[in-house]
Amino acid sequence: MTDASAPITQDVLTIPRKLPEGGKINLVGLTREQLRDTLIAAGTPEKQAKMRVGQIWQWIYHWGVRDFMVMTNLAKDYRALLDEKFEIAVPEIVSKQVSMDGTRKYLLRIAGGHEVEAVYIPEENRGTLCISSQVGCTLTCSFCHTGTQKLVRNLTAAEIVGQVMVARDDLGEWPEQGAPKDETRLVSNVVLMGMGEPLYNFDNVRDAMKVVMDGEGLTISRRRITLSTSGVVPEIAKTAAEIGCLLAISFHATTDEVRDKLVPVNKKWNIETLLNTLRDYPRLSNSERITFEYVMLKDVNDTDADAKRLVKLIRGIPAKINLIPFNEWPGAPYQRSDWERIESFADIIYKAGYASPIRTPRGEDIMAACGQLKSATERARKSRAQIEAEAGL
Ligand code: SAH
Ligand code: SF4
Repeated sequence: MTDASAPITQDVLTIPRKLPEGGKINLVGLTREQLRDTLIAAGTPEKQAKMRVGQIWQWIYHWGVRDFMVMTNLAKDYRALLDEKFEIAVPEIVSKQVSMDGTRKYLLRIAGGHEVEAVYIPEENRGTLCISSQVGCTLTCSFCHTGTQKLVRNLTAAEIVGQVMVARDDLGEWPEQGAPKDETRLVSNVVLMGMGEPLYNFDNVRDAMKVVMDGEGLTISRRRITLSTSGVVPEIAKTAAEIGCLLAISFHATTDEVRDKLVPVNKKWNIETLLNTLRDYPRLSNSERITFEYVMLKDVNDTDADAKRLVKLIRGIPAKINLIPFNEWPGAPYQRSDWERIESFADIIYKAGYASPIRTPRGEDIMAACGQLKSATERARKSRAQIEAEAGL
């Protein structure tokens, strides 16, 4: 069980991986500027660099190509040069599970043998890919499975963009050359709601989103990207200025006393500090409203008084409140609120003038629902340790 009084761990650093001698540089996840610098450093004449960036960019992000040799609008010896120095690498799919409701959960292997999960959720008029920003999470929200994972490392921008590319691979979504243009998008939306706290990995998340939002390539607009944070206040204004995507806040409680227990980062930036920062977000990011996520935990945060306090607190902030019925995981210290309770809570919010959708749990049968993600290796590692402990080793 997670210890709710556990200290808040500082953010982890992304340790730049030293490439093995002769190792190839991965071009995935580089912003246009970084790609340009990288190509120039490899001998591309400066005058040509902008054009080469455009060409290579299109091959990677529009056509989904992974082999330099098929980039036919580049000279043969230039292709050979690229092939010698660079690679187009994305995480490897270790396993894929498909839920009864069509949700797909991917277990992905990244450098160092670490694993993260990404979840694809098909809906009637859109398809949402939920991606991870870290392996595990340094925050220890007591209701979240990811928060119980010990091993944590930041994902690189390549690994974040790579999750979108891998999903497109699996869904067969790259366009076919010469085929009529197909405007239907399988991955139409991206949510940074998988494993990890995206604002503790700000630079990589920002660079990755720049690539994902770029109009020539993956082309997922900033209005179709939602970043969810537990409330890392200093990075919120930066998110507005440097990414400009939609924001979701893991709010989950209406008093500091309860929020301290559920979302321990609240001890650092409490409800008042958080709300003051949020008031500026829609204007700064030019987005319409903020989503407040609220997990419904039986007898913990689900009374009518909580609902009333909630609408009072967020008064003046353009908002939508997304109620998330708690998704259980083995050993979880909470239970989901009863359905009538959730509805009564939703009703109070709705009557106060806010949209209050109840998030239907998706992919529960494959442990793909919100807060259920946790690397399989970590699970295995832990259970082996437990077995050993039980055996008195
Ligand atoms: N770290 C970020 C993003 C990942 S969590 C954040 O906390 O916002 C995505 C959402 O799922 C968050 O609102 C999180 O609080 C919620 N969540 C976590 N565990 C959950 C669970 N077991 N059941 C329902 N929602 C959960
Ligand atoms: Fe981390 Fe978000 Fe889970 Fe909290 S809810 S432990 S911030 S992933």
